[in-house]
Amino acid sequence: MINKWMKGTVSGVLLASGVAMALPMSPVIADGPDFNGNETIKNERLHSYDEMVKLLERLDQKSDALSLEVYGQSVKGRDLFLAKFGTDENNPTILYLTQQHGNETLTTEGALTFIQHLTSGSHEVKELLDNVNILVAPRLNVDGAEGDVTFSLEDYVSGTHTRYNANGVDLNRDHVDREQPETLALHENVLKRYSPDYMIDLHHQGAVTTLGDSDELVSGSILYPTNEEVDPAVVEKSKKLGAVLYNTVESRGFGTLSKYIGGSAQTISRNGLAAEYGIATLLFEMRGMADHYREDYVLGQKSNGYLIKQAVIGMEATAEAIADGSIDEADTSFWDTLPESSYNHSED
Ligand SMILES: [Zn+2]
Repeated sequence: MINKWMKGTVSGVLLASGVAMALPMSPVIADGPDFNGNETIKNERLHSYDEMVKLLERLDQKSDALSLEVYGQSVKGRDLFLAKFGTDENNPTILYLTQQHGNETLTTEGALTFIQHLTSGSHEVKELLDNVNILVAPRLNVDGAEGDVTFSLEDYVSGTHTRYNANGVDLNRDHVDREQPETLALHENVLKRYSPDYMIDLHHQGAVTTLGDSDELVSGSILYPTNEEVDPAVVEKSKKLGAVLYNTVESRGFGTLSKYIGGSAQTISRNGLAAEYGIATLLFEMRGMADHYREDYVLGQKSNGYLIKQAVIGMEATAEAIADGSIDEADTSFWDTLPESSYNHSED
């Protein structure tokens, strides 16, 4: 209900201009109860930038499997981290990218859990890393996630996290021009250097997305590249990546996924990386956001546990299927019947 017009208008202006811009004031509800059926927002429970860095550095010290690298800096000068596992150039490589949008936080929480799992030194992990290289780039938009930006967040529900980077730019619309330091660093120092075969781009969507025409709320949504210049073989490989993830989430009993309705522009990483580098890509959206100016997008903390778990099992299962080669046998026919997302309930 609040500032509905902003979704199209302000983001468009911010995207087009890339300059700082104060948003109009409206009532701030910092910790109102029951956000979309999920109690209060407790964003302080999430890893801050400093806490994330501390964790990554600690894991890097204790684990031989992990090689931690700084691949660039944000607008505000924060280091961008890449966690690398596996060193055999003959093995396939998958990249997991999180939080291009700073308010889409549980994707990074899941990535940090996944990284911890990969540093466990267990026999299973060793075997996995003998057969696949895993790159994790947690939290591309480190400034937006800290709310350290050049525009006001005072009309945001929580006022702590924003989609845009410090310059007010949507990083996931910057994959062709690469005008922002975060996207440029990702392309120059990760994508071009390590040439991943697969990439999963983890995001969050509104809290009230439903499965097709039904009233069933989805826990997430997925989509393969839809740009017409992407090689059909790359699209098929992307659909297989989606099949592995879909089967995993649906089989665990707590997740329901829909087919995301997404654009076809190459400025979006799902399309751009597939078109430019031939990477098989998958968009993986989680339910709800940590913060937004739209109240119906925000989800309270009670859902955090299963959403983080959904991200973790998705990452684990896809890495395993690539490592053991079973991804090549994945059945992609489910895509033809997978109900699309419905946003009827969010249009209030
Ligand atoms: Zn997003």
